[in-house]
Amino acid sequence: MRPFPNLTVVEHPLIQHKLALLRSADTSKKLFRELVEEITLLMGYEVTHDLALEAVEIETPLETTHGMMVSGKKLTLIPVLRAGLGMVEGMLKLVPSARVGHVGLYREHDSLKPVSYYFKIPRDPELRDFIVLDPMLATGGSAAMAVSSLKSSGAEQVRLVCLVAAPEGVQHLLETHPDVHIFTAALDRELNEHGYILPGLGDAGDRLFGTR
Ligand code: URA
Repeated sequence: MRPFPNLTVVEHPLIQHKLALLRSADTSKKLFRELVEEITLLMGYEVTHDLALEAVEIETPLETTHGMMVSGKKLTLIPVLRAGLGMVEGMLKLVPSARVGHVGLYREHDSLKPVSYYFKIPRDPELRDFIVLDPMLATGGSAAMAVSSLKSSGAEQVRLVCLVAAPEGVQHLLETHPDVHIFTAALDRELNEHGYILPGLGDAGDRLFGTR
């Protein structure tokens, strides 16, 4: 398959190991939650690799020196409800001062089209960098709608972090929002007729929250 220009597959061995556990139908809800958080944290290292830095002066106990600290736009995490909630803590461990907005979308059962029911983000979107969190990039409809809503509100810089992506979803994002870079732990084979990713890991929201 030709590589997608908008996609980074984060292939660290620890991520691949934890993803294998995450996929297993035998994995308990408790472990599933822990794995989602841990994989997100590990991916966060790569997702934030290009944050702008500024030189700062520091007093060590011995002398004055210079160090580098993250500068520039403030980060805002946007979990797509509800499965995206499972990824928030992992990212917050890396960027504890990030704001957290929420986008509520569900997939209409027959058409698989996303329907928006909630949208709350910080007041100054043009001053922020947004990281959309959604574990499963399936058709890409929900992700594209979340990004469109953010951009309509003034967001200029948006990236997307998922755990498993389908080629169909990555292609849809490439066509609708080519400026949005996607980070995933795996690019899977395809979608089935119900819009589930194959081989995938099932319904991420159901497995995180124990509902159906
Ligand atoms: N959402 C999920 O939770 N799983 C899929 O496979 C596709 C969409």
